[in-house]
Amino acid sequence: MSIYSKIYEGKAKILYNTADPEILLADFKDDATAFNAQKRGTIDNKGVINCQISSHIYQALEKQGIRTHFIDSPAPQQMRVKAVKIIPLEVVVRNIAAGSLCQQTGLELGTILAKPLVEFYYKNDELGDPLLTSDRLELLQLATKEQVKEIINLALKINEFLKDFWNKCSITLIDFKLEFGLDTQQQIILADEISPDTCRLWDTSQKDPNLRVMDKDRFRKDLGNVENAYQEVLQRVLAVCKL
Ligand code: UDP
Repeated sequence: MSIYSKIYEGKAKILYNTADPEILLADFKDDATAFNAQKRGTIDNKGVINCQISSHIYQALEKQGIRTHFIDSPAPQQMRVKAVKIIPLEVVVRNIAAGSLCQQTGLELGTILAKPLVEFYYKNDELGDPLLTSDRLELLQLATKEQVKEIINLALKINEFLKDFWNKCSITLIDFKLEFGLDTQQQIILADEISPDTCRLWDTSQKDPNLRVMDKDRFRKDLGNVENAYQEVLQRVLAVCKL
């Protein structure tokens, strides 16, 4: 029996308490969900792959002075993280139009955006994670005006780092989702994960619209070879992090 008590089970991770109240253990699952959990499946080895990709990216972000919840990775699919109070926002940054942006605005898939677009979604499964306006953000008091400003600045800084990082992997960063939390000193720190589950990643040298997809859209759209794509992303991340 585990010496840790489970405190939360999400769609992609299980969180456990540890002996230290300021540290949690995140166990990354192979389970995959899409369309607000209406589609369910598993991707072999996804837990290990996403944990390792995230761990490497969070360590690289820390080196850039971005605070993250990452402490270390005691096992391939496990990450020890700082306990934070999650701000119930999904912060999406987009460089190229895809997904819901195309569906809701009519922009053509692949349209390069003149500047990065930062969007806030209410992290609430029952409501289907709706897109928020800044007035609705204020109305719901999900974060203060100063916190929203800081989150936007952090998201844009992380985007600049990630665009360059994925570019070194010969991968084009289309869009991604971030989650932030507040630590015991009320500082905003990057939480959750950065992986092919939470980013749209296109193989830069591949022009075929189905073959270029290296992220969860392979699962969402039944494109096949999901595990291979995730493995390939991990191999490229490891190669770049070794440099
Ligand atoms: N995303 C995510 N979790 C969510 C919703 C979106 O990680 O619950 C990521 C998604 O993988 C993509 C980006 O956020 O990289 C933008 O997603 P979008 O709003 O286009 O929604 P989708 O088309 O994925 O439903």
